Amino acid sequence: MDIAHSLQNRKETRLPVDRSKLNLGNSYDPGPEYYYDQTFTCKGCGKAELWTAAQQKWWYEDVGGYFFATAIRCRSCRAKERERRENARRMAGHQI
Ligand SMILES: [Zn+2]
Repeated sequence: MDIAHSLQNRKETRLPVDRSKLNLGNSYDPGPEYYYDQTFTCKGCGKAELWTAAQQKWWYEDVGGYFFATAIRCRSCRAKERERRENARRMAGHQI
């Protein structure tokens, strides 16, 4: 899917931030008022991926992700990374 093209053809979505649920760490920065869809470049493969407002809200408020951390890997690289970590754990388990 061409992300730039699809962004042009739909309305910008924004979702209100529920600041009481944010994990702000030690920062006094209250953060933004809204989440907006944003694109980022994957650190793993260099692909541009869309991180939607809904995904951000879920990650920051339901999962409790640190607020100033942002997405760095696309979906397929995250899946690969998870697999790699699980394999490493399984191998470590065999050594004990
Ligand atoms: Zn990637």
